[in-house]
Amino acid sequence: MWIKGMKVGIVGGSIAGCAAAAALLRAGCEVEVFERSSHGLKDRGAGIAIPEPLRAALTAGGYLPDDYPYCETKCRWWQFPDGSPMGRRLWTQPSRAVANNWGNLWTALRNLVPDGSYHEGMALDAFETSDDAVVARFADGTERSFDLLVGADGYHSAVRKKLHPEAEPVFADYILWRGNYPEAALDDRGLIDALDRDAAWLTVPFPGGHSVLYMIPDFDGGTAVGHRRVNWGIYAPCPRALALNGVESEPPGTLSDAVYGDLPRLLAAHFPPAAAALFGHTKQDELSIQPIYDSIVDSYVGQRVLLIGDAGIMTRPHTASGATKALEDALAIETIARQASDLPDFLARYDAERCAKAKTISELGRRMGQAQVVDTPDWGKMTPADFETWAKIILSGDKLYLYDEQD
Ligand SMILES: Cc1cc2nc3c(=O)[nH]c(=O)nc-3n(C[C@H](O)[C@H](O)[C@H](O)COP(=O)(O)OP(=O)(O)OC[C@H]3O[C@@H](n4cnc5c(N)ncnc54)[C@H](O)[C@@H]3O)c2cc1C
Repeated sequence: MWIKGMKVGIVGGSIAGCAAAAALLRAGCEVEVFERSSHGLKDRGAGIAIPEPLRAALTAGGYLPDDYPYCETKCRWWQFPDGSPMGRRLWTQPSRAVANNWGNLWTALRNLVPDGSYHEGMALDAFETSDDAVVARFADGTERSFDLLVGADGYHSAVRKKLHPEAEPVFADYILWRGNYPEAALDDRGLIDALDRDAAWLTVPFPGGHSVLYMIPDFDGGTAVGHRRVNWGIYAPCPRALALNGVESEPPGTLSDAVYGDLPRLLAAHFPPAAAALFGHTKQDELSIQPIYDSIVDSYVGQRVLLIGDAGIMTRPHTASGATKALEDALAIETIARQASDLPDFLARYDAERCAKAKTISELGRRMGQAQVVDTPDWGKMTPADFETWAKIILSGDKLYLYDEQD
């Protein structure tokens, strides 16, 4: 096969980079991964959701081990304050997903890349392509030549910047408060137990935003009740006291009192008390803030180069599709590599399939952000029938696994 023995350099060793490496190794390539970070990535620990059929395909295909830990959800509770501890249920939305601990997902994929092929502390500085090769230069002065370069270097991608110098991430004008802690730390489990009985995840809608909360496995793979982590986010306007530093997140330990003060005010004003306690459990120095950005490109490939994951088109987290998209990109790489007749054919097919998909999901993410954060309806007056109509309008004919019963 044409691809057998092809030398591939992968820039970025996170979810997309490791999944791409696994896919290309299976297709018969010689692969090397170059990750800028020098201290390992496994402690990031955010919760990420993927569709159950994708988890099953990754397990069946050997990308994830049979004992890979995950938590399942079947529906989403929309709870609104009404003076009672848990609030009033506005809507029970069918919503099936598999919730992962980022660290467990990354570790499973990283284990598919031989240690000798995974180079930490190697930041790509620049690259040049020609008819015969692509030459990558790294910050330590190393120069390496490959047949193909894969840009898996995330939302700030240097590879994307070279292919599309005009494509700058654009701030969506709101942020995501994020927290994550062991459920064993909770004194009052009432709301968590109620959610568990329905395999539900929790949304509290309010004027100008909404929250998400779901359980994920612990870092040690614990999925039993009492051994998981509570993972949450709240989409809200940017705190006035926050001066955003480009597209970077504000990591735990960096939030000033003035910035942090917005969160307890928001919880007191708009959340049922039991929900406010779950979100408010995270301490100021454990909180982070993620600014929400859009980044669109018209093509996922260049001469001897392709983009995967967040290095391509970024999607807003409402679609819960960042990791999904990266993993599907990798599966497509393996399939298309086996079908294509040569490298140009492979790149053209990958571009046609994956860039178009990413554009659709990115546009859906914008519509969801507009409807659920920027221009929120009068939630408290909506009936379940209103919610269903509203959700259909947002989808506008597109499909999203979170809103699909997947039967
Ligand atoms: C709070 C949160 C919740 C999320 N929830 C979901 C969800 O529910 N469902 C979902 O599907 N997705 C979710 N995502 C998104 C998901 O995590 C990412 O979209 C997905 O993992 C794609 O990752 P990636 O490998 O493309 O990029 P990244 O994980 O950003 O990795 C890029 C890697 O490239 C490295 N790198 C960067 N520049 C260079 C360079 N010049 N040289 C070498 N290496 C470099 C970086 O160090 C990094 O390790 C969420 C993300 C966050 C933050």
